[in-house]
Order: sequence, then structure tokens, then C-alpha cells
Amino acid sequence: DALNQSLSELRDINVSFEFFPPKSEKMEQTLWKSVERLAPLKPSYMSVTYGANSGERDRTHEVVKRIHQQTGIAAAPHLTCVDASRDELKQIAQDYWDSGIRRIVALRGDLPPGMEKTEMYASQLVTLLKEVADFEVSVAAYPEKHPEAANPQADLLNLKRKAEAGASEAITQFFFDTSTFLRFRDRAAATGIELDIVPGILPVTNYQTLLKFAEFANVHVPGWMHKMFDGLAEDDQTTRNLLGANIAMEQVKVLAKEGVKHFHFYTLNRSELSYAICHMLGVR
Ligand code: FAD
Repeated sequence: DALNQSLSELRDINVSFEFFPPKSEKMEQTLWKSVERLAPLKPSYMSVTYGANSGERDRTHEVVKRIHQQTGIAAAPHLTCVDASRDELKQIAQDYWDSGIRRIVALRGDLPPGMEKTEMYASQLVTLLKEVADFEVSVAAYPEKHPEAANPQADLLNLKRKAEAGASEAITQFFFDTSTFLRFRDRAAATGIELDIVPGILPVTNYQTLLKFAEFANVHVPGWMHKMFDGLAEDDQTTRNLLGANIAMEQVKVLAKEGVKHFHFYTLNRSELSYAICHMLGVR
């Protein structure tokens, strides 16, 4: 009750939504329906991921431009530096700036198979972007540590470098142990990181896919979630969606009570769950 009471008193919650460039005509329709459905919630921005394959990359720009033109909402492309030259990156950034884009989500990207080390980390991409123009830059953060980082402190110092290079907010990897996020936020503050740490919320719709994502990303899936989804693998999409919504709603309730003012939703191009959660948060 106390939780619901404090929820009804919430003010000034900001949200942002993440999409990925669609790979087929059907997915294209789903994406644009979702964008239309979520746009009236006036998110602070809608971001679009940047694929690992070069063919998908132009699609990011197309989707970003269309979101901006169609909805008037700020659209933020993700950009990775893992296998691009500095000149290419500067060119892309300049093109974005010239077409009115003012925020970029700056990432290193995952190492392609066979590549052990990279020339450029995300902190250096932030510096490069700031040299091109005065972008608002969002970066990634990992409450449970990035898989390649030697230890949590080294990873935190990396986040600090990204802040010092000029990023203004960090979007976290998804997580399910809310206390892990809160501890991470405290540790970041104690390390002198002056970034808005924005929780990345993943409303689960497909549990099997989630398990694969989570393993790859070093994200702990708690035992209570295994129990919750147990026996639903093969059927009952509706039940699974309801469970996913319930988990995410509990998560944002606790986070909102802990003072979180901005939530970033990994929509996976669907609108239903993100829309419902926003409604609960008073974002109309
Ligand atoms: P970095 O901050 O560069 O860190 C990468 C690793 O290197 C970390 O372990 C870090 O501790 C370590 N490190 C950093 N600097 C140094 C150094 N000088 N020496 C040694 N180690 C160092 N991927 C995509 O391909 N496209 C996307 O659109 C995309 N969007 C994402 C959105 C969000 C919100 C998040 C959380 C991730 C996203 N990713 C995306 C995945 C991301 O690209 C991978 O997690 C990638 O492996 C790391 O990217 P980063 O920007 O965090 O890298």
C-alpha cells in the first residue's frame, strides 16, 4: 500500500524507448505501430540500435530520421566504434548533426568473432563525438559488470572515463535484481561519477530468448523467475506476457520509490508492456 501510495505521488518521470531496425516487412509494421502507440507518452527520446552488420547500419539512420519526422520526438541513433575508422565515425556524426540529431548513444560494440582487442573504446568515441559537435551523449553501464571487465571497480572506472569524456547519462544493461542496480548507483556516486544512471528495463515476453540474452550479457536471472516461468515454455503466450509485465512493474515501482526519475525501455519493438508500465508510472 505504501508503495502504491508513493507511486500515486510521482511527478516528473521521464521515459525513453529503444527500438531496433526491422528485418522484414512484417517487423516493419510492428515497429511503426509501436512508435505511434508510444509517441503520445512524449518520451524524452526514442533510440535505435546499430547492428553488427554493415548492411543494417544505414537502416538505423533511416529509422531515426523517420521517427523524428513522423512524431517530432527526439530520436537518438546508437553508434558503435569497434570496427570503424575515426574518419568514418566523424562523417557519420557530422551527417547526424546536419540532419538535426542532437543525441547519440555511444558504444564500443561487441567484438566480432576472432577479434581479441579493440583500437577504440566507448570513452574514446564519446571524445570524438564531442569534437564533431555538442551532442548529448548517452553511454552504457553494467550493474553486474561488463563480461570483459577485469573486475567491477575497473568497469566503474571505465564508466567514469566515459563521463569525463562528456557523456551526460548512462543507460544500464537490463537486470532483475533491483538491489543490484541500487548498489551500482551508490558505487557510481561514491566513485565521483556525475552521470544520470538510467535503468534499462526489459519487459520479458519470451523467457527462452531472455535466458540466452542474459547468459551472453552476464545478467543474473534469479531463481524466483525460473520458478515463475517454469512449465510455460511451450505455450500460453498470454500468461508469459502477464508475468513479464508484473515483474517489470514491480521493478519500476521500487526504483521510482528509490528516486529514479528516468526509465529506459528495451521495447524489442513492441509497445504493449512498455505502454502499460508507463501508464502505471503516471506517464500519460
Ligand atoms: P566500453 O565502455 O568501451 O567497455 C567495453 C569493455 O572494455 C568493458 O569491459 C570495459 O571495462 C573495458 N575497457 C574499457 N576501456 C578499457 C581500456 N582502456 N583498457 C582495457 N579495458 C577497457 N551493441 C551494438 O552493437 N549495437 C547497439 O546498438 C548496442 N546498444 C546497446 C545499448 C545499451 C544500453 C547497452 C547496455 C549495450 C548496447 N550494446 C549495443 C552492446 C555493447 O556494444 C556491448 O556491451 C559492448 O561489448 C560494450 O560496449 P560499451 O560501450 O559498454 O564498451
